[in-house]
Parts: sequence; structure tokens; C-alpha cells
Amino acid sequence: MRTDSEFAFELRVCQWAEREWSPAREDSAVVVARQLGTKYRRWDTVVLECDPEGLATRGAFGPDAFDSDQLHVLRHAPADWTFYRDALPDPGYPWRYVRESVHELADRDALDTRKRGRRIEIRRKRAYPDWVRRVVAIENKPDLTANAARDLAGQLERDVALGLADEVWVATEATNERVEPILLADFPAAAGVLTVDPAAGTAETVWEPRTLPVDGPGTRILDRPEDAHSAARFEYADPDWKAEKRRAIAERAYARGWRSYADTMRPDCRHFELRADGTGVSPYCVAKARTPTQSECRGSCGSFEPEPPVWRTKGWPIEGGPGAATKRLLARRRRERRPGLE
Ligand code: SF4
Repeated sequence: MRTDSEFAFELRVCQWAEREWSPAREDSAVVVARQLGTKYRRWDTVVLECDPEGLATRGAFGPDAFDSDQLHVLRHAPADWTFYRDALPDPGYPWRYVRESVHELADRDALDTRKRGRRIEIRRKRAYPDWVRRVVAIENKPDLTANAARDLAGQLERDVALGLADEVWVATEATNERVEPILLADFPAAAGVLTVDPAAGTAETVWEPRTLPVDGPGTRILDRPEDAHSAARFEYADPDWKAEKRRAIAERAYARGWRSYADTMRPDCRHFELRADGTGVSPYCVAKARTPTQSECRGSCGSFEPEPPVWRTKGWPIEGGPGAATKRLLARRRRERRPGLE
């Protein structure tokens, strides 16, 4: 039986990766997130292979993400009180934005600040760690038809040329037949291919990926014409840009994880359930008798019915009703993978 939708498949891939992913270095901790990337490219599933100590130290900074500007300050914040302009390297953009980041970090209790006359001095509370060892991007395509493979090939080529992730993979749903080699012929040889059996919670490598040179420069393919006469357009991506993007992606992955669907779906609908099986927990709609997609499961859904008020009162054994309990359960699961959070 095939999974209900790409969304349902994606959740299964995330569950599998969280449970079974084999990091390049055995002692790495694994953090999984979904639907992340840059303005050029969004990946379905992101697997971070993390330094365990660094991950715990990152946890001390709290559950929310830092953006690139904030990371610039955090990473260079001095151990002793220093005028912020003397402490930080030139950001390459106006200093007033740096000042904004300084204030935001102080509001989040991530940085100490004080005023000396008209000058703002900063001091770090703790060193921001290098906590990410590798970033792995997985594109989920449960139904790998010839058309889907052709569409994907162009995206994978862009990923490989840019080298922002250490590895790129395609995950497709395992069927009784093997993946036709002809479907893979268009994919760049550096991209890996994985078949996932969502029901069994297992996966098999069909093609091993190559590790991409993330520390070197990359090529951003802007336009690749179909015809043989027009020239493709490229842009150079320098290593510093790549490093900054990787850190920002890791921060968002840390904050978001892959269970954030509860934030946009309707766990407060009486038909919404979390169903557990041997491979993990998935959202389920009793009215539709399947995992609903995120775009279906909204207030505008024709079958939406709010959970009865009595579920949220004292008579119900779960504080706040099942909708609130669902969100708490998913948040707890997310925190379990993030040591060091208070
Ligand atoms: S009935 Fe609609 S809103 Fe309610 S759980 Fe199902 S898909 Fe979501």
C-alpha cells in the first residue's frame, strides 16, 4: 500500500532518519528537520550530524533560531566587555543592523550589554559552539515516475554544483519492484538514492552519494536552457557565503525540527488524532480515514469540527483537551533530541 501523500511520506522519512540515520562519525548526534533551505532552494528533509557536546552547548542558548546577523554577533562576541564595533569584524552591511542584532540578543538573554557613555559594550554569556558537523539534504519523491525524475534531476544538479549540503539524496517509496535504472540515469552521480518502506520503517540505499566540497567555492546555476544554443547562467558562491548559509539553515533546523506540522494543522479538531505504530507517530484524520495533508487540515476544511468544550474542562483527563496535549507531546519529542535546553 502506498502512503497517502507526499506529506505523509515525508513524515515517515523524517521518522526513519531520526531513528536510523548512520552519521559519518559514529558519535554524532542527529537532528532532523523538514522544509528548509535558502531563498534559492527548499529541501524536504534536512539531517544535521552534530557534535554532541556542541549540540548541548547550543541548547543553552534556548530553543529559538538565530538568524545570520545575530550569529555574526554571537560568534564573535568577546569574553570581556568591549565596544561592539571593536569586538566584531566588519559585517559588510551598515553597523546599525549590528546594533539591532545586539539588542535582540540582549532581549533573548544570549548576550550581555552595557552602556559606557554613548557606546554600547558587549560581552558573551557563553561561547557559541561549532555544533554542526554535516548537513544532509533529502528530496522526497514517493512516486518516482519518469517525469518526476526528470524534474528532480535539474534540482539535484543545482545542489551538487553549489555544494551547500555535504550530501544530497532522493528518497522514494519502496515497491516490490526495484527502481528502474533508467529513472536514475539523469541524476548526477554524486546524488544518493534511497528506497524507504514507510510501513516497515526501513530504508535501503540504491546509490551511494558522494561527499560534496562544502568548504570550497560553489556554483549557483541560475538558468539552464533546454535548447543546445543558449548559454547557461551561473553565479559564483564563495565559501564564506556557504558557511554562513549552512549555519543559518542549521539554526532553523534546530528550532523547527519536523514535528512543527501541529502549528499549522488543526489538532483541536475532534477528528484529529496522533496514531502510533511500530515506526513512529503520525497525524491521522478520522473523518478522512488517512493522514491529512497540511493544506487540507485547516480551519477552512469542510469536515473541521472543534473539539467539544467539555474536552477542555476539568472532566477531561488531559489538561487543555487533546488538541493542546498533542502540541505538548510533539514539543516534548522535539526537545528530547535537543539536550541542554532548560
Ligand atoms: S476533519 Fe479536516 S480539520 Fe479535522 S482533522 Fe480532518 S483534515 Fe483536519
